[in-house]
Order: sequence, then C-alpha cells, then structure tokens
Amino acid sequence: MTPVLTRIAIPARVLAGIAARAAAAWPDECCGLLLGRRDGGACIIAEAVAADNVADDPARRFEVDPHALLATHRRARESGVELLGPYHSHPDGAAVPSATDRARAEAAAAAGEAWLIVPATRDGAGAARAFIFDGKAFTEAALVVTPDGA
Ligand SMILES: [Zn+2]
Repeated sequence: MTPVLTRIAIPARVLAGIAARAAAAWPDECCGLLLGRRDGGACIIAEAVAADNVADDPARRFEVDPHALLATHRRARESGVELLGPYHSHPDGAAVPSATDRARAEAAAAAGEAWLIVPATRDGAGAARAFIFDGKAFTEAALVVTPDGA
C-alpha cells in the first residue's frame, strides 16, 4: 500500500519564490512544477520550476507549458528527483482546489500528486495551502515551511 501523504515540506526561499510569481502574475494564474522526493508519508519539495501558463483563459485556469513539463520530467529523471506535482495561484480566490482543478485532477492527475495553491490579490500573495490528490479527491496536507539551508 502506498503510504498516505499527510505532510508537505517546502524551503522558505522556494515558497517565497512561488509567492513572488503569484503576485507578479496577478490577475492571471501563475503555474509551475514542484521537484523533490517522497519520504514515507511526506513530500519534501526541493525546488519549484516556473512554467508559462498556456491556458486559453489564464485568469481562470492554468495549463503548464507542455515543453516545460517535458523538460522538467527529463531533468527530474536525470537528477534523481521526483516530479511531485504542480503549483499554481488563485487570483482573488481561496487557496483550495476549484471545481476546475478537481475536474482536471480527476481526468489527468496521478494518485499521490502534491498540489500547492497560492492565493493572490492586487496587494500580493497570501498563505499557500497544499493538497494531495489520492486518485479520487484532494485532501489537505500540512504545509511545513523549513528554514533555508536545513
Ligand atoms: Zn486552481
């Protein structure tokens, strides 16, 4: 049995980078990919790779640039890390999976994917939240921000 993922750790500087991109992209959604490793019940994020949002309606949905997705898959393989899942922002929205996110995950996400969602407004980014897709639904995970260099 796959262990149930309950904790997602992210270095403070990686989270700050995602927040900055979320704020800069407002009123559109920013998106990218999370690289790292799994350790028992935890996902340990090491890096966030920014990607262009190529969705038709980037203010309401995200679509990671397929070239970036391919390149990141390749880099993950070559450097022995895992592609844990996507991050994206919710301009003027809550940091929880939207109906669009749920439909998209049900159609295309792998079980165990970690999704990080950052809310953003005109004034900047808010507190991120993290979710694990279990193949059927999202469950919120504890997002643990680790000090840089730890
Ligand atoms: Zn979303």
